[in-house]
Amino acid sequence: MKIPQNKIKQLIEESAALADAFDVCSVQLMAVADLPTRFGDFQIVGFVSPCDEKEHTAIAKGNVVDKEGVLTRVHSECLTGDAIGSLRCDCRDQLIESLKRIEAEGEGVLLYLRQEGRNIGLTEKIRAYALQDQGYDTIEANIHLGHKPDERDYRIAANILHNLRVKSIRLLTNNPNKIQQLRLAGVRIVERVPLITQPTTYSEGYLRTKAEKAGHLLGDLSTVRDVEKILEPPKED
Ligand SMILES: [Zn+2]
Repeated sequence: MKIPQNKIKQLIEESAALADAFDVCSVQLMAVADLPTRFGDFQIVGFVSPCDEKEHTAIAKGNVVDKEGVLTRVHSECLTGDAIGSLRCDCRDQLIESLKRIEAEGEGVLLYLRQEGRNIGLTEKIRAYALQDQGYDTIEANIHLGHKPDERDYRIAANILHNLRVKSIRLLTNNPNKIQQLRLAGVRIVERVPLITQPTTYSEGYLRTKAEKAGHLLGDLSTVRDVEKILEPPKED
């Protein structure tokens, strides 16, 4: 089962009508092709962002069009992790684990967003790594360089899902901020699915910072799937 040709034609036409060159988060669906991978057979959906010409993709399994509760991973590009196998982060492990889960489920989608280095860009990420080599943690390094700890914008992801006519999702994530931003952008999240990877000696500190400073769900909340529970404010003792 995959997205059939007549649906693809429809999606491309609808997307062309929706695309807005003045909206920074607008995307236009340009092309769909089969993508056999070592993790299973997928389709790759190519999007262009009309305002900055960034090329985002969705890797789809099954016919996700008009579906509810689609298993979804929203992944931001990480050249060093995804392609080179860097041990400084867990991006590649999360990418591979997500594709395996989607394959096992037989239906789902992975959005691959061009937001390198939590959207500060590759060179700035390398600058931040250099600072981390001197003892800064991942968040301190970004702030030292004049960036926010996390500059990713998930409205693009929301638009991609809208273009694919995905009605609601089950989101593979440990990041409550991602859940919140996607909800604000109008995505219906019916469940959060934990995505736990094994830390390496190099990524341990990075993962600890994500948990302690960015609220990632790696401790008590690591298995919670109820989105409302994750987003409710912490209770005072
Ligand atoms: Zn990474």
